[in-house]
Amino acid sequence: MEFWEAETEKPIERPVVIEPEFPPEPQECFAPQQYYAWYCSDNQTIYINTSMLELWQEHFTEDEVPYSLAATMAHEVGHAAQFALRPELAELDTRDPKISLPIEMEADCLAGVWAAGPITEGRLDRETLERVWGQQIELLNDEEHQQTHGLPADRVARLSAGIDGGVEACWQDGS
Ligand SMILES: [Zn+2]
Repeated sequence: MEFWEAETEKPIERPVVIEPEFPPEPQECFAPQQYYAWYCSDNQTIYINTSMLELWQEHFTEDEVPYSLAATMAHEVGHAAQFALRPELAELDTRDPKISLPIEMEADCLAGVWAAGPITEGRLDRETLERVWGQQIELLNDEEHQQTHGLPADRVARLSAGIDGGVEACWQDGS
């Protein structure tokens, strides 16, 4: 959060709710119970279900789980930064895959922008991050996910683009 406050020069205080009640308040922040993590622009809150942690623990080694969590949080915080920079996005209907896809790809890229710092400082191993990110998307990969979030290889490519190119690499539509 501090990273993006410095980067965007806007206050980004985004609460994180672990295992929200269903249906969460406000209603606009509703997501199906099988969703693992999501960002709600209506109350600027990140929601995480513990089923996600269980899934990561089931599929990743003890050393990989922190990478998995870091990648997920970096993506959701990427949304927070994205909506802080471009509040007009909140007006869009993200249930439409044509609208959600570029927004999701941008969040993947912004996750990479954040990761670049810890990678340079030696706190994150780039190769492990990219590999675990790709593997966790494979776990979620179904037709709906592909339409709304993109293909696993594309999502890894966006993360890498953010690590290499910074924020400028993330605005695909030139805005
Ligand atoms: Zn997202």
